[in-house]
Amino acid sequence: MTASTANPPPGSTGQTPYRILLDEVGAFVYTTDLSGRYTYANRLVLDLLGPSLQLEDVLGKSFTDFVDIGEHGAELRQSDRSVLDDGQTIAREETNFIHATGEWRTYWSIKKPLRDATGAITGLIGISHDITAKKRLEDAVREQKKLLDTILDNIDALVYMKGADRRFLYANQPAARVFGQPAEHIVGRLDSELMPPAVADRFWAQDQKILASGKRHVSEETFVDAAGRRRHYWSVIVPWTSPEGSPALIGLSTDITELHALKEELERQARADSLTGLANRRHFFERAAAEFARCREHGLPLSLIAIDLDHFKQINDVHGHPIGDLALAHFAACCRKAVRATDLCARTGGEEFCVLLPEVGGDDACATAERIRTLPCDLHTAGLPADLRLTASLGLVGMAPDDHDFDALFRRADRALYAAKAQGRNRTVRLPPVA
Ligand code: GH3
Ligand code: MG
Ligand code: MG
Repeated sequence: MTASTANPPPGSTGQTPYRILLDEVGAFVYTTDLSGRYTYANRLVLDLLGPSLQLEDVLGKSFTDFVDIGEHGAELRQSDRSVLDDGQTIAREETNFIHATGEWRTYWSIKKPLRDATGAITGLIGISHDITAKKRLEDAVREQKKLLDTILDNIDALVYMKGADRRFLYANQPAARVFGQPAEHIVGRLDSELMPPAVADRFWAQDQKILASGKRHVSEETFVDAAGRRRHYWSVIVPWTSPEGSPALIGLSTDITELHALKEELERQARADSLTGLANRRHFFERAAAEFARCREHGLPLSLIAIDLDHFKQINDVHGHPIGDLALAHFAACCRKAVRATDLCARTGGEEFCVLLPEVGGDDACATAERIRTLPCDLHTAGLPADLRLTASLGLVGMAPDDHDFDALFRRADRALYAAKAQGRNRTVRLPPVA
């Protein structure tokens, strides 16, 4: 050890332990005088300023003698002045073009004033860490996030993430629109704050099952959006564990409202008779079998009316087949008006109809049958000739204890209808006969 190792003055060029230490700290360390000229620079600074530079080569020179600070120059000079003139400590990010390597690099720099024994500022000390790699990584992550956001905000599906604490972690723009909130207002909010509590509870019950099972779940869901429109979604919900280890769910819901409406319309068409819009024969017998089983199980009455239009062949012969068709549609419309919404009217054959009356028995069923038969049919408004005589014969029956299935009821209704025809038509016959 020599005396010079005890306290090296700035600018000392000897290989003191301090200098060795400062060369090894992994940061850029330098001091300048009041004019910004170097009074000391460690090895990293020297290597940055140029190849094979020694401390002697930079002492008395400024950073700008070596480095192009471009558009950041004025800003950099001003921050140095606030340290040198006002004694402020500055901590900030700086980006510089490095001639030696021909690239832009970013630093986290701390600058503090140096003072003499009287407290007067004599220069500054700067310590900078190269954060270029971190910055590039951050830029790459930011770019990737932008790309992901663009994709997620433009796909035709709601994408969202929810934590096991029922709080939303993410919502894309389509999801935000459905909730009627900006996406950033959704993150951190509870499901019950974004939808009616009963709906939130229903989803949460399902979420808990998915979280417990750890398995992907696929289902059709119905949701009323912020504008009050009922929407149908095809939802795929995937359990996910965040990098911190918290369980969460990722949801992808595709709006299938139009498809759903189309499906319902096709199903309705498959159930309906195209001429009258009433239930067709196949649908009638399916529903009737189900209602028979339900009423039987709960001890409820069930009535059936079988209807056949009178002398319909003649109507066709006299007025033509198209008028016959119109008369069928007109009778069907009148029939529908005469029954409750829970009753089922069907066209079971050419000019044959059936009406099923669940939970209705005896005299009430008879009253409905008579209402159908005596309907004041306004032929004129239906576009039918005024001289057309549209009457029907009806057979009415109720479920009996020894009926094993709906067919038994149907066969008896047919017998009652046959009796109505035999007794002169335009009448209702009830079986078993009422005294
Ligand atoms: P009744 O029942 O009173 O004994 O006499 P009816 O003339 O109605 O006799 P039936 O039930 O045997 O004949 C039914 C007629 O209904 C035969 C057919 O020409 C007519 N018909 C069946 N389906 C249609 C249809 O879709 N359109 C029209 N216009 N006529 C139909
Ligand atoms: Mg017939
Ligand atoms: Mg007939």
